[in-house]
Amino acid sequence: MPVKTRNEVVDLKQAVATKSPIRLRCPFANCRAGIIPYSSSTQLNVIENAPACVAIESPTSDPKLSSSTTEFYRIDDVWDFDNIGVSKPSEILPEPIIVGTNSQEGEQERIDVERLLICSECDRGPLGFAGIITGGEKDHRNLKYFLGQDSVVYDVK
Ligand SMILES: [Zn+2]
Repeated sequence: MPVKTRNEVVDLKQAVATKSPIRLRCPFANCRAGIIPYSSSTQLNVIENAPACVAIESPTSDPKLSSSTTEFYRIDDVWDFDNIGVSKPSEILPEPIIVGTNSQEGEQERIDVERLLICSECDRGPLGFAGIITGGEKDHRNLKYFLGQDSVVYDVK
């Protein structure tokens, strides 16, 4: 299956505009399970102090754990995923992290990170993290998901 890293995809928005379907896939070469379709409405957030996730530099290299991942796709609805695994709830970071700005009130949105995202086929990762907006009810239905931009490969037709 020919896949690319994010750096090799010349222009994601252009690819979406030309109606080329893009699927984000597991970065591990012997897996490549479909994780989520990319669309023009996929939100990209810059997040500092996020948990370390794997990053992939070329389709032929192995993904490596990187603490410098700062760009994440935000997915609010777990049903948008084709496949995703989540770890059991635990305290992953001691403090909430800022994930963006609330569009209505213009306030910083913080989440308590309590899960790591893994590939549901091969159980490897982390590919991202999930958590609950600080102050929100600790219910798995309130989880917001963040997938590392360089933690996946891009399947562009
Ligand atoms: Zn996998």
